Amino acid sequence: MRAVVYTGEGRVEVDTVPDPGVEEPTDVVVRVRRAAVCGTDLHVVAHPTGLPEGFVLGHEFVGEVVDLGAGVHGHRRGGLVVGADFTSCGRCWWCRRGDHWECAERQFFGTGSAFGPALPGAQAELVRVPHADTVLQAVPDGVDVDAAVFLGDTLATGYAAVQRAAIRPGDTVAVIGGGPVGQLTSLAAQACGAGIVVLVEPVDARRELAAAQGAVVATPDDARALVDRLTDRRGADAVIDAIGGPRGLQTGFALVRRRGTVVSVGVHTDPGWELPVARAFADELTLTFAIGDLARDAGPLLALVRSGAVDPTVVASETVPLDAVPEAYARMAGRRTLKTLIAIQ
Ligand SMILES: [Zn+2]
Ligand SMILES: [Zn+2]
Repeated sequence: MRAVVYTGEGRVEVDTVPDPGVEEPTDVVVRVRRAAVCGTDLHVVAHPTGLPEGFVLGHEFVGEVVDLGAGVHGHRRGGLVVGADFTSCGRCWWCRRGDHWECAERQFFGTGSAFGPALPGAQAELVRVPHADTVLQAVPDGVDVDAAVFLGDTLATGYAAVQRAAIRPGDTVAVIGGGPVGQLTSLAAQACGAGIVVLVEPVDARRELAAAQGAVVATPDDARALVDRLTDRRGADAVIDAIGGPRGLQTGFALVRRRGTVVSVGVHTDPGWELPVARAFADELTLTFAIGDLARDAGPLLALVRSGAVDPTVVASETVPLDAVPEAYARMAGRRTLKTLIAIQ
């Protein structure tokens, strides 16, 4: 089959690799119709961890079941499915709680060994999916493949952040960062009852997209003054950091009100950060983190998309064939595009 593979630090190519097959009774093989390129893909290619040359990349995918093991009961050949970006067993203590990310069977598709044993990815004609009854969700009629491909990671992450923020109807929610996750966090917050969503982003085009999709927008320099005006100087009820690192946390603490919540879904690689603990105590702040989980949240995620309450395709900049993916990685890395979808077959 044809697949996007890692070929050394900072480089990807399209190559012919062996077809995957069913290896365990709980496996499904999916013929991929839509995949997507994620900021995580750009990161693992630039900073690889346990990523061998020739390894198939990608973790966001929708496609048809073409083969399945005898232990798979929830899927049939020909069914259209969307995959979570990581695997989980569905049976352990964590999985039964709905905390699939904590499962000992976790493998993250197409990223090397940073988040569990390496598992070949989905920017390919075929992908092998372990624990398919938990990892794959059927895509119902009325949900297009271009929308469904966002359910496994980008929208799942935004939704998990909104749930973690426990927003109440009418709350003022600040979202830091107008990348794909920040944009879909804004849409999820609006759909889940936020009054005003303030999206904080330095890039003009990303602010314009967020404004067209119902957010009030601000540059990082203007954000506190805007939030003050909207909240009688209290600060945002919840702040969702979609950029990560110390900057995301600092901005979050700068915008949140007393007894408010900061949720971080941006990636953190720094070992530490100086928590403003005196203020956090005096103001009874909550700081929490969240990771998207399709296996847990498929019901509400599919309902949001199927009903039209959230249209995740607004962040798709382009759709390219598999052979054009290496150039699309470069455009995304250069911030010339926001999100690339890959049409296969
Ligand atoms: Zn992703
Ligand atoms: Zn488990």
